[in-house]
Amino acid sequence: MRREKIEITGEVRVRYAPSPTGFLHLGNAQSALFNYLFAKHYKGTWVLRIEDTDLKRNVPHGEESQMENLHWLGIYWDEGPDKPKEEFAPYHQKERVSLYHKYVQQLLDAELAYKDYATEEELTELHDQQMAAKIAPHYDGRWYGATKEQIKKAEAEGRKPTVRLHLPKNHVYSWDDMIKGTVSFNSDNIGGDFIIEKSNGMATYNFAVVIDDYLMKISHVLRGDDHIANTPKQLAVYEALGIPQPLFGHITLIYNLETHKKLSKRDKNTLQFISQYRKFGYLNEALVNFIAFLGWSPIGEKELFTRDELIEAFDIHRMSASPAYFDQKKLDWINSEYIKKIPIAELANRIVTLINVAETDTALKLKELKMQENLDFIKKVIQLYRAEAKTLMTFMEKIYFIKNSDRHKFSYADLAEFDKNNVHKILLVMQKEIQNAVEPIDYDSILLAIQKETGQSGRNLYIPLNVVFTDNKSAPQITELLAIMPKQNVEIMITNALKWLNQ
Ligand code: GLU
Repeated sequence: MRREKIEITGEVRVRYAPSPTGFLHLGNAQSALFNYLFAKHYKGTWVLRIEDTDLKRNVPHGEESQMENLHWLGIYWDEGPDKPKEEFAPYHQKERVSLYHKYVQQLLDAELAYKDYATEEELTELHDQQMAAKIAPHYDGRWYGATKEQIKKAEAEGRKPTVRLHLPKNHVYSWDDMIKGTVSFNSDNIGGDFIIEKSNGMATYNFAVVIDDYLMKISHVLRGDDHIANTPKQLAVYEALGIPQPLFGHITLIYNLETHKKLSKRDKNTLQFISQYRKFGYLNEALVNFIAFLGWSPIGEKELFTRDELIEAFDIHRMSASPAYFDQKKLDWINSEYIKKIPIAELANRIVTLINVAETDTALKLKELKMQENLDFIKKVIQLYRAEAKTLMTFMEKIYFIKNSDRHKFSYADLAEFDKNNVHKILLVMQKEIQNAVEPIDYDSILLAIQKETGQSGRNLYIPLNVVFTDNKSAPQITELLAIMPKQNVEIMITNALKWLNQ
């Protein structure tokens, strides 16, 4: 059952706690954004904590890349490794191991936790037996209440123990989830006494996260609903230590619209990482707007929200318990709307940045042409294609197209429906007019001259010209496009088309 009204009282402190086991993907950004919106809406603090205890899975630059891409999205944390607050630092779990150990020891002393000397082979055997007997795999508590002699023997054999939390029998762990409503688990069904400290002395995620959330005074835990099964274990730790627990809210994961399955790395048609959206010319404002709708919706029909409007409109009661579907068309629409809104000079600067970092083939080609130095030209291209652009990549491709217009091989397929002789006449007049024209060429008057001499106008004039200069029936205002093409290229394109007509 969804709770009716959640009172957000006291100091709000939320956290986003990525593991640097990869780069910032959509799901990470979704969690980060909702924590940011929650913190800002309820005038609280957003903490960034790095959960890097799984040393083997950490990837080089994972952490920097996550932070850098969050910055690019324009969502800034108030506290974190780079903005530490003495009371709560450090913000890397790796540096907090002794803190965890202190609490593990406290539980060992109180006999609420115990050392487990079972070997990997023994645990695998237990697992296999349970599978064969068709019972849910769980630790059977074999080292709970072990005698001093048993422990001594195990130590003498050189076995390295893990530490497990002892769970009470038939005990209900229940919480009032801010998004999902009441969720309950029975202690008998969560896999048995679980490891809180590994044999290498490192706390496990389910333990460290509780200690950190407690010590960092986290008031609300908002995270992906893939963590729901972890929550009863964390509640067990809170209860064993007798410390207050935060409120939990589990955000829906993102699903593929076609397969209705959770978005995964196998979904090759969907870009997964924020850095990919960035390099392919999506705007951070658009992405933030889009992601905010993955699991939340405002009252009303409005779909375009600035960051400040999102903060204002955000309401934890309007977070959805059901799946959020990734809709590429919607993202493209939102992006194109932002492209229309953002000043041309700003779009041009962003394109220059993309060219400079040269992370796509198109950007690299433009860099080789030194297009980043040609801001005026970039602005003209934006002006021309702004109405139809989905991403900044549209402009970059057009820039490349225009700069290389003399080298394209066109099919001229769309000329088929026009009278070849008429098109021929149009092009001959145009060729002559351009030869005689002084630069900058006024293509409007050239088109008037063509109309006069050939008697062709409207569709019969414009569409053939669109095809001759873009190989496409629809093009932006053709005279404006020609005005930013080098004269020589225009002449070559006319010659190419004439050759094709003469075949
Ligand atoms: N480090 C966890 C993850 O990356 C987050 C855990 C949490 O938010 O409690 O999934």
